[in-house]
Amino acid sequence: MSPEEARARVRDAAGPELLERLEHLDATRSRPPVDDRPPESAPDAGAAVDCDVALVGGGLSLLYAPVLAAMGAKVHVFDRSRAGGTHREWNASERELGALVSMGLLTPDELDGLVIARYREGFCRWHEGGTWPVTRVLDRSVDAGALLSLVRRRAESLGVVFHDGHSLIGHASGERSIALRFRDGSGASREVVARLMIDARGAASPSATADLICPTVGGVLTGLAQGDGPDEVDPGVGEILVTTEGVEEGRQHIWEGFPGRPGETTVYLFYYDKRAAVGDGSLVKLYARFFETLPRYKRGEPTLERPTFGYIPGWSRLTPAPRPPSSRIVLVGDAAARHSPLTYCGFGATLRSVKPASARVMAALSDERASLDPVVHDTPLHRGTGALAHMIASPPREPARAGALNGLLDAAFGSLHSMGDEAYGRLLRDEMSGGEFFRFLHSTSMRRPEVYPWVFRVLGAAGVGRWGAGVLQALWSKEA
Ligand SMILES: Cc1cc2nc3c(=O)[nH]c(=O)nc-3n(C[C@H](O)[C@H](O)[C@H](O)COP(=O)(O)OP(=O)(O)OC[C@H]3O[C@@H](n4cnc5c(N)ncnc54)[C@H](O)[C@@H]3O)c2cc1C
Repeated sequence: MSPEEARARVRDAAGPELLERLEHLDATRSRPPVDDRPPESAPDAGAAVDCDVALVGGGLSLLYAPVLAAMGAKVHVFDRSRAGGTHREWNASERELGALVSMGLLTPDELDGLVIARYREGFCRWHEGGTWPVTRVLDRSVDAGALLSLVRRRAESLGVVFHDGHSLIGHASGERSIALRFRDGSGASREVVARLMIDARGAASPSATADLICPTVGGVLTGLAQGDGPDEVDPGVGEILVTTEGVEEGRQHIWEGFPGRPGETTVYLFYYDKRAAVGDGSLVKLYARFFETLPRYKRGEPTLERPTFGYIPGWSRLTPAPRPPSSRIVLVGDAAARHSPLTYCGFGATLRSVKPASARVMAALSDERASLDPVVHDTPLHRGTGALAHMIASPPREPARAGALNGLLDAAFGSLHSMGDEAYGRLLRDEMSGGEFFRFLHSTSMRRPEVYPWVFRVLGAAGVGRWGAGVLQALWSKEA
């Protein structure tokens, strides 16, 4: 399918505005975002401030606004479009969703109303391998748009001020505050002074420098055949990671499918890659592949009801971490890329981070010396799983080895499965201890001894050293 045809299918499903967003996102690959229009001068130490916290980006990280406001901060939210206006379906594990209630953001009934599907189990399946089921992992899908609308209303009721249609174009940090320059919908520029800025612009932040990236396309489909065959959808089952062929076009493409409202299934196609390798138009090309190869994954007469797409940053932990350009800026969400490099589940990671990170922001507002880099939690386990993600992002390109990555992943997930449902679930929920992760690696290498030279080829000796040190750190971590 040609890119023009793929564009037309997205436009037919969701209108020209969404297609414009897709093209805007794709264009950022060759023109990485920069904050190149700073205010004329940085605020001096005694400058008056408009707010304590300027939250720039009102996507998933909008969750920070009511939590900080409830802790006493004066919060302003800025978004280039409308804060809280996302149209996505997110899945998460039931246990993680409980944080929305314990943080005081939602009542149990409100949370219940946002869950659009509950499923009994999930599985991973690698082409020509086994099916490896697991329970209590990504077993709930949530209406993300309704969640963020509710969070916005809660924030407004706590006095948070919203500035929709404001795009950050530059900043200048002073000793105690930061001046921010925005361009609004009419093209006019406006300056605001805050004590701290939270950069929640996701992949569009200039600080989103993590080394890996996951281009993702798909959306909510109707018309897929229902049943329990591999090419049918079962509304009681979430398909976490599924491949339908080996490496093609130098990439291992992966499907994810999970139930939504009755008759609807959210289906994504994605691949892991090195950030620098993903060029212009990658999402449109991936959409062309999505429409063309969907019948390899599921049969039926599908209609794309609501397209969703984006670039999700990931960090291997083998290269320097994304860092904010000044101590007045705090990175959260995708910009910080501290979520799992294996599952890229930003939702669950944000749910874990919002409360402790907000407490640290409040502490920094009362004590200027408190360090905020990084403010979001990063579990030691990610030092181990990051290298695995790097390997998936660097699959063998020789045609004769097109199936090798699937073979290795099948051995790895077979090992996990044999460690038991709890251990398997712990890896995918970012809860596995360092010792357990080490046993998982050992068991996989027993099944596939050829993994050793492969790891050296992909990571190099220095990378293997950094990975080994990271795994050892995870082994000794208190969290492990
Ligand atoms: C298609 C897709 C499906 C996904 N599904 C899941 C899932 O099922 N489960 C899961 O856990 N995770 C999922 N994710 C990942 C998850 O959506 C992200 O991790 C999460 O949204 C990141 O939150 P964020 O606040 O950092 O950024 P985002 O939610 O991306 O929000 C960024 C915000 O910044 C705004 N912005 C950008 N530039 C500027 C600027 N210059 N000035 C002002 N505002 C700006 C944007 O308008 C946007 O509102 C998915 C991602 C994609 C792309």
